Amino acid sequence: MGQAYLYASLLVVSAIVALVIAIVAWERRNAPGAMPLMILALAMVFWAGTYALHWLSPNQPQPFFWLDATYLGVVIAPTALFVLTLQITNRGNWLKRWLIVALLIEPLLTLILLWTDSWHGWFFGGQRLPGSTTIYRGGFWFYINIFYSYGLILISVVFLVIQYLQSTILARSQTSVILLGAFLPVGINLISLLGFQPLPELDLTPIVFVFSSSIFAYGLFHHQLLLIVPVARAVLIESMRDGVLVLDQQNRVIDYNPAACALLNINRRISYGAPIWELLPQWADIDAKESNKLLIPTANGAQRSVNCHITSLLDNKKRQIGRLIVLRDLTELEQAYIALQELNERLQIQLEENKTLQEQLREQALRDPLTDLHNRRFLEEALPRELARAVRYAYPIAFIMLDIDHFKYFNDTYGHEAGDRLLQAIAEMLRANIRAGDIACRLGGEEFLVVLPDITEENATQRAEQLRREFEQISLTYHALRLEAKVSLGVSLFPQHGVTSEELIRAADYALYNAKLHGGNCVMVYGDEKAAGAE
Ligand code: GH3
Ligand code: MG
Ligand code: MG
Repeated sequence: MGQAYLYASLLVVSAIVALVIAIVAWERRNAPGAMPLMILALAMVFWAGTYALHWLSPNQPQPFFWLDATYLGVVIAPTALFVLTLQITNRGNWLKRWLIVALLIEPLLTLILLWTDSWHGWFFGGQRLPGSTTIYRGGFWFYINIFYSYGLILISVVFLVIQYLQSTILARSQTSVILLGAFLPVGINLISLLGFQPLPELDLTPIVFVFSSSIFAYGLFHHQLLLIVPVARAVLIESMRDGVLVLDQQNRVIDYNPAACALLNINRRISYGAPIWELLPQWADIDAKESNKLLIPTANGAQRSVNCHITSLLDNKKRQIGRLIVLRDLTELEQAYIALQELNERLQIQLEENKTLQEQLREQALRDPLTDLHNRRFLEEALPRELARAVRYAYPIAFIMLDIDHFKYFNDTYGHEAGDRLLQAIAEMLRANIRAGDIACRLGGEEFLVVLPDITEENATQRAEQLRREFEQISLTYHALRLEAKVSLGVSLFPQHGVTSEELIRAADYALYNAKLHGGNCVMVYGDEKAAGAE
């Protein structure tokens, strides 16, 4: 009888513990796995409770009344454990209505067959002895139930093992706790099947299940933060493009993400505790206080430029317990930067070219294409400037206008092309005979203008005369012909003959007209009636 009380009190304590777990699970019912854990715990309350009653009531209505009652808990426990496992191994979406119904069929049939066993013997198969609470043999349904229950438990264990293997080092502590809880009932039954029974006649399964439930509750609720954090961590760290490595105090790798492997060009799984210098040969040269740029060879023989940043991991007493390495691929960034620089250089060159072209264009717009002398447009820009400067420094300016004599006749006689050659020759002559500050320009047709700043009237007349003589001496050979021509020149002076460019050009033109009147090949100054040069 003493033994019965001992067993009963063990079972009552277990039932109470299971009740506490059920209440805790109910309070945290929003946590993953909390609802199936509560159902499991309630099943255990019932199982342990009825089993305790069995030990406490020798005079029960039937010898197996309370033992039969325990089976309500017995059939629920593996199913609840299985559902719990699905939920905490991220398989919650499997739990469709049909699966839940399917999972309940076998337990229900078991209960029916068990409670009606005296009619058909399908469950116990006549193997049950009064006074024995554990049976290891029975009818065919007994084996179906064993197969079903342990099947569910084994699948749960497999799922948890997979979860354990897949979870990162940090999340493993939780998974291992839950795995231990799931493995306990299998283990204890294996032991009793092998004939080891510390408490004769007492089925330890309910106690073990309560134990497991406590472990689950600890795993789920104590590690509740770790349950969410590892998921978030897994999503973040596993999918991030930056490589992350966690080192312990001895600089051995205790955690890493796939990006770290890719950046370090490692295509195997890094084994737990591998020294960092084996994975990162530059480790010795890395300065922990700074961001380091590493060049890491890639599989195709190229190099990857990787920024390596090291952070010390300190415990709450500020002691260094490890290091965190963050690797960032700079290759693309650097390539983009180089491309940008190249583009910038090309643009700069283009810009320079455009500037030169623009200057050339502007220059072209201000020059006469046949003679390459400045044109009338240039004069319009240059003359106001020249006149303003002359006013400021109080010096005179001479305007000499030239016009080829009988050029129409020249053209008619020798042809337009010969005329062009003569125009080019006069341009050449003008260029050779002017000073740096002077302007020689083709006004149009065979009319030219030379502007001579800071010159006396006398000198201007001399210069005009010199031009006339120079031109006289030009003799072009054209298709075996010797071409010669003469030129007439008109001179006007700033400021005495006018103060605007229009007035001065008009005055020079007038003097030129006079020179033509005098028979050409001569120089006339505005206001002068007689020729200054030849007859
Ligand atoms: P003068 O000045 O002695 O009074 O007689 P001219 O024959 O030179 O006078 P006019 O101004 O009437 O003729 C100018 C000629 O210059 C008319 C045209 O055929 C010629 N001419 C104008 N521009 C060009 C040119 O670019 N090339 C050539 N070859 N001839 C041109
Ligand atoms: Mg003319
Ligand atoms: Mg002429």
